[in-house]
Amino acid sequence: MAPAAGLMQRIRIAARVRPGLPGEIDDGGIEAWQAANISSTDEEPFISIPTPSSSSTAASVNTTARWKFRFNSAWGPETRQADVFVRDVAPLVGVALNGMTATILAYGVTSSGKTHTMQGGEGELRGVIPRVVETLFEDKPEGARVQLSYMEIYKDEVYDLLDEGANSKGKAFKLPVREDGNGVVFVAGLRRVPLEDVSHFEDMYSQATLQRSVGATNLNRASSRSHAILTLEVEGPGIGEDPEGGLGKIVLVDLAGSENNKLTGNDASRLAESAAINKSLSVLGQVVRDLNAGKHRIPYRNSKLTRILQDALGGRSAGLLICNVAPGLKWRKDTLNTLNFATAVK
Ligand code: ADP
Ligand code: MG
Repeated sequence: MAPAAGLMQRIRIAARVRPGLPGEIDDGGIEAWQAANISSTDEEPFISIPTPSSSSTAASVNTTARWKFRFNSAWGPETRQADVFVRDVAPLVGVALNGMTATILAYGVTSSGKTHTMQGGEGELRGVIPRVVETLFEDKPEGARVQLSYMEIYKDEVYDLLDEGANSKGKAFKLPVREDGNGVVFVAGLRRVPLEDVSHFEDMYSQATLQRSVGATNLNRASSRSHAILTLEVEGPGIGEDPEGGLGKIVLVDLAGSENNKLTGNDASRLAESAAINKSLSVLGQVVRDLNAGKHRIPYRNSKLTRILQDALGGRSAGLLICNVAPGLKWRKDTLNTLNFATAVK
């Protein structure tokens, strides 16, 4: 018998369909995605589209066949940032305040809404990252400290996004990934900045975002070709069960675009870039699937991304993988890949 849902599953899977953008109408049109976040004993949240054959035979409106993909949460185009936060993210802030690690990853093709989901815009459009920071500062016990680190993985090399020196010299510095005596993997030399408050975070974060795009320009590539990993640590009395205090973490990952990377360029540098993205995303998929299946031997070592995330995914942790969906028809094939990926790892 399969284990009861929720008992084994360490990493919840959510899907989010963004609204169509103006240009997409001229670009071949958008598809009629539906999403339902119902959750009952016999129906899980799902997103769906008409199958290609049924949408071309307009006669049978009532019997239109739909493809359905099931998730732990399913968000449609009308979803507000606050909705995603309340249902899927806020509980994970609680996990960190309890001295464990929470990991949230955004997956999907370039333009599907990963950065909108993770970073978002101003005011009500604030995404996961600023909301997590605000909630951490609001809910943390007095005396607990919050620290920030922020790195980028590009072509399997790690760069520190909080290191301003790196790019002012015209090139980014690569950081080595090492293992300590207990087998814990860490990035040697990565900065950890103690945060005073939310506005201190905002300053650091906007500088780092600028750093990310400058770094991308220097390396002659788009920032959507790298993985960005932002970590918030909360440490001190009142974190976890030990009265002396503990350490909790939230790891927030905006992944590189999952589009079929073979099609995105054919010079040597682009090919190496594509190979690194394909490999790391497919290993990530295996790792999530194996963790959710309760396996014991997990292939973290097969990519730098999963090595770095090993503790965040497999330690005393809980996670959320948000699969972002672009409704444009030109993305149909990649989108179906995303959804098959997502339902396979659940
Ligand atoms: P990605 O990071 O996956 O490449 P973005 O987050 O940059 O994609 O989104 C692409 C465009 O779509 C941006 O202009 C963004 O503002 C817009 N967008 C994405 N998701 C939404 C959404 N849920 N609602 C409104 N606009 C969105
Ligand atoms: Mg992005």
